[in-house]
Amino acid sequence: MPELPEVEALAADLRERAAGRVIERADVAEFAVLKTYDPALTALHGRTITATARYGKFLDLVTERDPGGGPVRERDPGGGLVRERDPGGGPVLHLIDEPPRPGKGPLALRVRFADGAGFDLTEAGTRKRLAVYLVADPMAVPGIAALGPDPLDPSFTAGTLAQILAGRRTQIKGVLRDQKIIAGIGNAYSDEVLHAARMSPFRLAASLSSKDVAELHAVIVGTLQEAVARSAGLAAGDLKAEKKAGLRVHGRAGQPCPVCGDTVREVSFADSALQYCPTCQTGGKPLADRRMSRLLK
Ligand SMILES: [Zn+2]
Repeated sequence: MPELPEVEALAADLRERAAGRVIERADVAEFAVLKTYDPALTALHGRTITATARYGKFLDLVTERDPGGGPVRERDPGGGLVRERDPGGGPVLHLIDEPPRPGKGPLALRVRFADGAGFDLTEAGTRKRLAVYLVADPMAVPGIAALGPDPLDPSFTAGTLAQILAGRRTQIKGVLRDQKIIAGIGNAYSDEVLHAARMSPFRLAASLSSKDVAELHAVIVGTLQEAVARSAGLAAGDLKAEKKAGLRVHGRAGQPCPVCGDTVREVSFADSALQYCPTCQTGGKPLADRRMSRLLK
């Protein structure tokens, strides 16, 4: 699943390719994908795509309210995202894709432009979690309204992270990938961040010293910025391979750790699994697989 860096690159790629194009029609191939019914998808017909944006792992395609109305654009000095103000005062439609799934797979939604170009939203795999919302305000999407702070926003400081972690008696791995706590980090980048921070994924969030918090903050921002830089300029179809190539421990169980050479291990976590390096992160001791030990009792 694409996380913050890939969605950031996807938003930039789509901004380049789709902004200024007029939507001729939009069709759902998989009805469960569209989570809103008012306005209907036909409301998009004839509208111009004016901008794209990212909210956590959500991708936002913004259309102009009034064809020919001329929206005012302003660049967000912090995030580099293009936002739109509608001088007409009416609602601006946002076609929001949660989360985008670049690559091949069964077709979910198809958008065709008046000039013959277009794009498909597809979802590979058996877990169907792709969701599309057509809304006047992105905050009408429950997942966006509930997002925690964005780690690439300049307002996300070590102090912000300290506040987030204070008193939280839960494992740091779960905290990092909870969208309601911090936006945009999923299973892959939480593994990468913890490996780079040389921290056990099972460490309790509340147990971090202020020095630990400052280091973790620097690693979160650095890891995401590096991945954003690697993905920048890539087309949607190349993002998955680039993400995979940049990962040091995630999805690499059984392979040598690129830092110390120890074997990367895997342990079950929540509804999936996490990967880590025992030498770098847990003092050389493998983490107990709770699911396994429960089964064996
Ligand atoms: Zn290692």
